[in-house]
Amino acid sequence: MLTYFPTPYPGEWWYSVLCRYHIRSGYNKYATTINELYSGRKMVHGRLIPGGDCAAILSNLPPGVLSIDDVLQNHTLLPYYTRFFLTDKKRQVWEALRVGRGSGITSVRTQMPDGTEGLKYCPTCYLLDTEKYGEPFWHRVHQIPLIPLCPMHRTPLIAVPIKFARLSEVFLPLTSIHCQKSISREKAPWMESLTDMLTALLCRDYAPTVGYNNLHAALINAGYGVDKISKYQTLSVEKIQEAARAYYGNQIYEQYFASLSSAVLSRLISWHLSSPERYALIAVMVGMDSETLFGPAIEPIDPLLEKLLSYKKAGVIYGKTDLAAKMGIQPGQLDSLAQKYNIQPFWRQIQQERNRCIRLLLTAEEYATVWESNKNSGGGQLAVFARSIVLNFCQKKEG
Ligand SMILES: [Zn+2]
Repeated sequence: MLTYFPTPYPGEWWYSVLCRYHIRSGYNKYATTINELYSGRKMVHGRLIPGGDCAAILSNLPPGVLSIDDVLQNHTLLPYYTRFFLTDKKRQVWEALRVGRGSGITSVRTQMPDGTEGLKYCPTCYLLDTEKYGEPFWHRVHQIPLIPLCPMHRTPLIAVPIKFARLSEVFLPLTSIHCQKSISREKAPWMESLTDMLTALLCRDYAPTVGYNNLHAALINAGYGVDKISKYQTLSVEKIQEAARAYYGNQIYEQYFASLSSAVLSRLISWHLSSPERYALIAVMVGMDSETLFGPAIEPIDPLLEKLLSYKKAGVIYGKTDLAAKMGIQPGQLDSLAQKYNIQPFWRQIQQERNRCIRLLLTAEEYATVWESNKNSGGGQLAVFARSIVLNFCQKKEG
């Protein structure tokens, strides 16, 4: 039986509890503590995904002190890494860990965006925890490799470089680390939203929605669909990659987007991708929070359709080529778009021969008025605008 085993603090990472146990035990050698924790069995701990170590330790504690579900749910990153698992797979993983077997999850990206591995802490939490509990400890949420800020204090996290693989051999309690001052690093615009999203994926009770995926709709609405107009709009890998590089910079781009493929995207939009990072990064990039990601279905809006309808509403009669150019598509695509949404062409279909001329002399103010009005209704060619107004007026009179 393990005596003096510490009660985990709220939000404490399991490895941190083991470090505190090592201090309490008073042993000099890490190996002695490890031997005691696992009754001489060889175990791995301190990884981002817990293994059989949690159950092994609990079996050496008096019954009722700590439950395995409490440990896995509140003191490891398991809820984060299994957030997007299908129900059956999730149940299997949890069952295996409950009985002290491995999780079977192998591919977890352990590096931070700069490519290094390490443990992280928030300098403000360090001080407040010391005040409140008498010692600082490693928070589990800070250990998510992608998380840039402390979700509570919004301060940039400080990393202590060490390979996770080494943590099975050494105990590195946070109290042994000298607390650095907050780094006054400039925060990128995405850092707060990404921090909130990752924290929600760890701590909130979300599951993939059944029958729809809001990330897909949001990407289409934000214009990340391919240019080809078809009944089921597919996403453009290139557009998403380009946007991700511009939004997150090269380091995150290289780790999470450089190898993005349409196969990965289709797994993502059907909730079949199991790792949480790309869901989080893409959702934040399109301005989505976790409530919307897992919330009721959002209506997909085709940005091209919206544009086309706004031109229709403005009532200016453009030639087909002009209208297509204004919308940034080819004239042929305009036909496909109209067909897809069953919109009657409101643009001139055939190029007519125009060789009659009305010369219109205006004062500077009159000219400015016409110019302004044209600008407000879409800003096409001024003569085309004037002609459509005149014709419109005359045709209405006739009617
Ligand atoms: Zn903090």
